[in-house]
Amino acid sequence: MEADLARAWVEGIAAAVRERADELTQLDAAIGDGDHGVNLRRGFDAVVAALAGADLATGGEVLVKTGTTLVSKVGGASGPLYGQAFRAIGKALQQDATLAEALRAGLDAVQKLGKAVPGDKTLVDALVPAVEAFEATGDAAAAARAAADGMRATVPLQARKGRASYLGERSVGHQDPGATSMSLVFAALADAAA
Ligand code: ADP
Ligand code: MG
Ligand code: MG
Repeated sequence: MEADLARAWVEGIAAAVRERADELTQLDAAIGDGDHGVNLRRGFDAVVAALAGADLATGGEVLVKTGTTLVSKVGGASGPLYGQAFRAIGKALQQDATLAEALRAGLDAVQKLGKAVPGDKTLVDALVPAVEAFEATGDAAAAARAAADGMRATVPLQARKGRASYLGERSVGHQDPGATSMSLVFAALADAAA
């Protein structure tokens, strides 16, 4: 991945997170602690600032810096998960992986850290179908549609990971905030790649 495409992807995520921060926070208020939009906005604003001053030659370098910044700036569950995902995607690209292979490496990093599987009502429910769709088609727009479908499919699920799991059955009927932000990540990739 070229550095310009990676920058466009990350800047697109930052813009979407800024625009949708209130909605992400409201979703998290329903089944968590109401900080998901705030957490991600702080993180991606820091990423945009870090990238602005950095001379980065490849997409891999851009995404490793994105991940490292998220890990250092965002607390909670989502900072380390998104941070390690972008670090893994960037590192794979630096080792000449295809984008499909790199996205799979990002998913593996998320599952290694958070231990969530599909159906646990987490961001994994959007990430797994998105990676599978990208592997099957090489089309970021198809991945974005799959992520959005995965996001909507979290509504009837009972959470088994993260804060929402403390609610037990009361987590049913709400869309997962992390799956919602993950859908924004793939929408931004589709926009950047278009
Ligand atoms: P916190 O719950 O620490 O306040 P955030 O509100 O920023 O963190 O993020 C909450 C989101 O993190 C959830 O909606 C869920 O998608 C995701 N999440 C929580 N725990 C896990 C996990 N173990 N694996 C994958 N995703 C998780
Ligand atoms: Mg939260
Ligand atoms: Mg929190």
